[in-house]
Amino acid sequence: AADRLKDKIILITGASAGIGKATALELALAGNGQIKLILTARRKEKLDELLSELQLKYPNIKVLTVSLDVSKLDTIGPFVSGLPQEFADVDVLINNAGLALGRDEIGTILPEDIQGMFQTNVLGLITLTQAIIPIFKKKNSGDIVNLGSIAGRDPYPGGGIYCPTKAAVKSFSHVLRKELISTRIRVLEVDPGNVETEFSNTRFKGDLAKAKAVYANTEPLVAEDISELIVFALTRKQNTVIAEQLVFSSNQA
Ligand code: NDP
Repeated sequence: AADRLKDKIILITGASAGIGKATALELALAGNGQIKLILTARRKEKLDELLSELQLKYPNIKVLTVSLDVSKLDTIGPFVSGLPQEFADVDVLINNAGLALGRDEIGTILPEDIQGMFQTNVLGLITLTQAIIPIFKKKNSGDIVNLGSIAGRDPYPGGGIYCPTKAAVKSFSHVLRKELISTRIRVLEVDPGNVETEFSNTRFKGDLAKAKAVYANTEPLVAEDISELIVFALTRKQNTVIAEQLVFSSNQA
């Protein structure tokens, strides 16, 4: 695995917490610190904490932290074109930033939450992917990992917007994979069930009792369960595409 990751430039969105953060740590471990990470999210201070942790463990690792809000679509192009030379030739894009806002019936869901979910989970992901693809096409190689969800396959009441956003991620991943079929660019997707992260706190807007209740008696997955799968898919031979990984805890049918 270390050979396949060596010197790769890996861009992660939503790297300040949860699955994105765990993926940064897992990649550094699998690559023996011989990788370059571009860590992005809105909370730069969290990214810088992660940078310190990584540098302590792997003195040779190269890490760039950038505050990037993927829902601000017009900032994405300038972010990619403004990457310092040492990080500009991106090899792997991990489209992880995403969120659910509320679990309300369609009649009561707030317009700003509808917009927030689509802007982040769908439009941000698509816009960043569009900005990165020319870099991959130029060298005819690269990997795109999209975070879908079980919600994109099996919609539920109260998921009226979140579920469609993840279905859109799935559809987009399929189209992309087919469009890129004759290239050496892979499109990989991971579709988790419940994973205990900050996701639920965000969904229930800080109502920790409601957030915790989601995981009660379910023995949920943790972020590392997902980051392991991401790293597994990325470290297969370049001709091996693990297109989709559907994974949930044994208590969540
Ligand atoms: P967390 O809430 O723990 O982490 C979400 C990350 O996304 C944070 O780093 C957050 O950083 C970032 N983020 C949110 N909005 C934006 C934005 N507009 N721009 C940039 N970054 C943003 O959740 P998870 O780690 O659990 O979620 C990661 C992905 O996995 C998401 O796409 C989610 O939909 C998906 N997923 C999660 C599941 C779960 O049960 N947890 C199940 C299935 C899929 P910051 O706030 O600093 O911007």
